[in-house]
Amino acid sequence: MIVSIISVGNELLNGDTLNSNAACLGQRLADLGLAVHHETCVPDDHAAIAEALLTALATSTVVLTIGGLGPTRDDLTRTAVAQALGRPLHDNPAVANAIRDYLRRRGVAIPAEAVRLQALVPEGASVLPNPNGTAPGLWCDLEAGRAVVLLPGPPGEFIPMVDDEVMPRLRARLPAALAAPRVVRVAGVAESVVEATTLAALRDLPPLGLAYCAKPGCVTVRLTDPLHPDLLNAAEERLRQAFQTRALPAACASPAEHVGIILRQRGLHLATAESCTGGLIAAAVTDLPGSSEWFTGAVVAYANAWKERFLDVNADLLNRHGAVSQPVVSAMLDSLTRRYHADAAIAVSGVAGPGGGTPDKPVGTVFLGVAVPGHAQVMRLDLPGSRQNVRERTVAMAFVTLREALLTHPPTPANRTA
Ligand code: ATP
Repeated sequence: MIVSIISVGNELLNGDTLNSNAACLGQRLADLGLAVHHETCVPDDHAAIAEALLTALATSTVVLTIGGLGPTRDDLTRTAVAQALGRPLHDNPAVANAIRDYLRRRGVAIPAEAVRLQALVPEGASVLPNPNGTAPGLWCDLEAGRAVVLLPGPPGEFIPMVDDEVMPRLRARLPAALAAPRVVRVAGVAESVVEATTLAALRDLPPLGLAYCAKPGCVTVRLTDPLHPDLLNAAEERLRQAFQTRALPAACASPAEHVGIILRQRGLHLATAESCTGGLIAAAVTDLPGSSEWFTGAVVAYANAWKERFLDVNADLLNRHGAVSQPVVSAMLDSLTRRYHADAAIAVSGVAGPGGGTPDKPVGTVFLGVAVPGHAQVMRLDLPGSRQNVRERTVAMAFVTLREALLTHPPTPANRTA
């Protein structure tokens, strides 16, 4: 099955909105073992939408469009697609009722014409219900098993519709035996090293699809071969052997998630002391559902006065070594374990830039400390890039380092707390 995506919207082209829907769709399709053949982004323009559709249909089995289904003048996808396919649009009273119901429940009134426009359905199309908004999705089956699927733009409507309506329909059209891709996530290893290790580990296996996606602290290796599930199993096993503890468990999407699992299993609680990350580590922790079971809290101490007052960092230490230093971060860690009774701790202080760098501590210098029962360490990182990059990489390295410390310092009778 060849799948293409057309995103519609001036705001996507001028950079006002990031095309997160296409990324989300690409991920869902990849999980199904389907590669996106091509992806186009077109303005809110009737001719551009129609032309993109006809181009995509020349090579694709399924074309999915995103956005432009609303009631305003710039929402042109429905009419452009209907016209390109030669399908007249018909009023659909059931859809109009569903829209009115949705609006009534929310106490919102919109002009009758706006309801009518969103309730127009191309001849022969099926309606994909939209419990999270007004415009429904539309599924138009064409000859020879091909289809055009129109989906709304707001992510809160788009994502549930993809999960609840589109994916099940696509899955039903795929051969039952098609093997889902396998994913191995590797923490704390550079992408080029991950690639070299992967190629060496799979050297004597038949060729299979390999893709790498690098994010700070974690590289994802995706293995695909829809027709050979045994080969995928063998390849995944080889990679897990090759990467050992660097490979995250299959169910973990990130090093942070794995940290949470280990802490919960061991009955440990984490606290953070953050300067240059300003609470980003705590935010990443609290993004994870269930983190209240293993996260106590964060002290965001930006000014030296707060490092002294809330993290017991000695003024003399700050004067002698500076806030961005090994001894200060070590003292911050100590405070988390002693004063706040944390079992596990992360402390960071660094120069995120663009100003504030010195010859011996240029922008990107970060001291990162982690503590687990029976062990504490502080390391210096020299991170490249912008302020945002430095902060993001610090957060990623914090979880990678804490995960490693937890794995290399398993509970012993002396340090067991639970
Ligand atoms: P509406 O009824 O809200 O008009 P629609 O289907 O017409 O829905 P659009 O008008 O194209 O959708 O977009 C509505 C909102 O969804 C906008 O805020 C837009 O920025 C956002 N959006 C549209 N397409 C995408 C996309 N591909 N990724 C992320 N957000 C998107």
